Amino acid sequence: MVAVKPSRHDGIGMTSERTRLRMIERLREKGIKDSDVLTAMAMVPRHLFVSEALAIRAYEDTALPIGFGQTISHPYSVARMIEVLRNGKDMQRVLEVGCGCGYQAAVLSKLAREVYSIERIANLLGHARRTIRALRIANIKVQHGDGHIGLAEVAPFDGIILAAAGAEAPPALLAQLAEGGRLVMPRGVGESQQMVLIERQADGYHEQVLEMVHFVPLLPGVA
Ligand code: SAH
Repeated sequence: MVAVKPSRHDGIGMTSERTRLRMIERLREKGIKDSDVLTAMAMVPRHLFVSEALAIRAYEDTALPIGFGQTISHPYSVARMIEVLRNGKDMQRVLEVGCGCGYQAAVLSKLAREVYSIERIANLLGHARRTIRALRIANIKVQHGDGHIGLAEVAPFDGIILAAAGAEAPPALLAQLAEGGRLVMPRGVGESQQMVLIERQADGYHEQVLEMVHFVPLLPGVA
């Protein structure tokens, strides 16, 4: 059981466990099949990643504001992208681009040995770092920077997941994918975005276009 901050445990903490299990049921109904992903989502207290005012809505299947014009992704988007990323296998080293409040990184931390997460907005990253520390999650390393560049010093990754939509897969990220590794991202601009899966194999990169999605844009530089 993941420890929760004592100040938030009363009231919301008690109901959140039940509401979290209802969220898992809804994810299953919407088509998430990977039971390890569902278990990981059941372990992470999503309400601790949003402001106290929004905590009551944390288990609805909706994106919620986390400040600086950014949002915490829909539970379904998080579950679906991770399900596609891991393809039923345990992962060693994973890179997330767009840490935001740190929620998806926390879910990934239950399914991968090492999680690296880059965020361009320093202030958001500070919040994410504090939440991750309060939950005593030891296998996430967060990094302030532009995710287009990736993290060459710790590559290769067997999974790379983007939480923001870009027009194309950043070339540096493709280069940092291990052979047999998978990159999942929302691709496109504005309203027209699709989730894509790019797999690196010995003979090159293979792409599959999945469902339509809606994410915040992948922006250049840091803030
Ligand atoms: N992973 C978060 C989703 C946050 S929303 C969750 O679990 O809910 C997407 C995040 O991507 C935003 O915080 C935004 O600031 C960040 N982002 C956008 N462009 C980026 C870039 N080039 N590098 C790193 N982070 C970026």
